[in-house]
Amino acid sequence: METQPLPLELPDHGHHHLSSLAAEVHRTYFLKYPPLSVRWGQRIQRKSRRSIRLGSYNHFTNEIRIHPSLNAHNIPAFFIQSIIHHEYLHHMLGPSHNRRFHSHERKFRYHRESKEWIRRNLFLLLGRRAARRAGIARAAVSQLVLF
Ligand SMILES: [Zn+2]
Repeated sequence: METQPLPLELPDHGHHHLSSLAAEVHRTYFLKYPPLSVRWGQRIQRKSRRSIRLGSYNHFTNEIRIHPSLNAHNIPAFFIQSIIHHEYLHHMLGPSHNRRFHSHERKFRYHRESKEWIRRNLFLLLGRRAARRAGIARAAVSQLVLF
């Protein structure tokens, strides 16, 4: 009997339930606004990368995309929610990371924890070599991890 190969990636193969995480962010911070569609981006295999875009907001479709590398057991839910929160702010405030944007960003409950987490765990997303090259300078992190 012929056996069909299993698809390599089932749609829900990952660790995190993105729509639940997004619903909580919406409920907690953006209840005045309609909820946005939040989805994992396409998974593209790469051995190493120089930088990574963890989240994006599309002004035309009003959709938020989260990098599929974050759908893993070693990525804390609060970190994914910090990215969702950030992308919601782009919907509210526009594309610029200006002072107003940053002051809204600090309203996220785990803002400081999220900044600290990515600084310490950059190697999970970029690989050890790239993370070592970047050192532990906060400025370097913001150039390598985009959202
Ligand atoms: Zn941004």
